[in-house]
Amino acid sequence: MIDVAYGQATDVGRVRSENEDDLLAAPPVFVVADGMGGHAGGAAASSAAVEEMAALARRDDLDPEQVRAAVAAAHARVRALSRPDGSRLGAGTTLTGLVAVTHEGSPTWLVLNVGDSRVYRLAGDSLLQVTTDHSLVQEMVDDGVLSAQDARFHPQRNVVTRALGGPGAVEPDLTLAPPQPSERWLVCSDGLTNELTDDEIAEVLRVETDPQAAADRLVQAAVQAGGQDNVTVVVVDVAGAA
Ligand code: MN
Repeated sequence: MIDVAYGQATDVGRVRSENEDDLLAAPPVFVVADGMGGHAGGAAASSAAVEEMAALARRDDLDPEQVRAAVAAAHARVRALSRPDGSRLGAGTTLTGLVAVTHEGSPTWLVLNVGDSRVYRLAGDSLLQVTTDHSLVQEMVDDGVLSAQDARFHPQRNVVTRALGGPGAVEPDLTLAPPQPSERWLVCSDGLTNELTDDEIAEVLRVETDPQAAADRLVQAAVQAGGQDNVTVVVVDVAGAA
């Protein structure tokens, strides 16, 4: 098991009446889920996905296939919420984060993503976005018709192109990332990244050494910047070799 310290925070924001985000910070699993769908469907979807991932908590010899199977189980469970009574039609959720697994005998991170929540890694002073959003605006950025900066303000920035709960199977992006000494990970919903630039996020992550203080301060900053959406943050520090 990778030795970590971590913090977590979430806030409904200033506009929404309900927090449809959920999170799990339970080693070796660190994920956020951003639910969507009316009539409490979004909150039910994100909490169902997180509950399914909680089955992996406190396991110290997971392999990537077990994580993939848990994501598939979460997808099936969220999809079941939408069935025929119609009250939760269209319930869906993002599911994004990292899980410590064993791959070829070595402990490593498995970064997973479905949707437009994000994983970032702070190594040294540089913050890198590790996941790629499954969103309409990301496709426009990839096509060269929209800048990453303007994507934050695009009227269709909330349209996701992949989510748990939709028809058919769901294919999560899965990436192995060997742990580095003294690295810091950030898992967050789009309520953070639509309010703060990557530079603003990086500044907080550099200054606040305690992971709980960093998580609290990021969420506070996003709410102060507008709080247009629910905001959820998990910060994970890998113990240094110093
Ligand atoms: Mn959101």
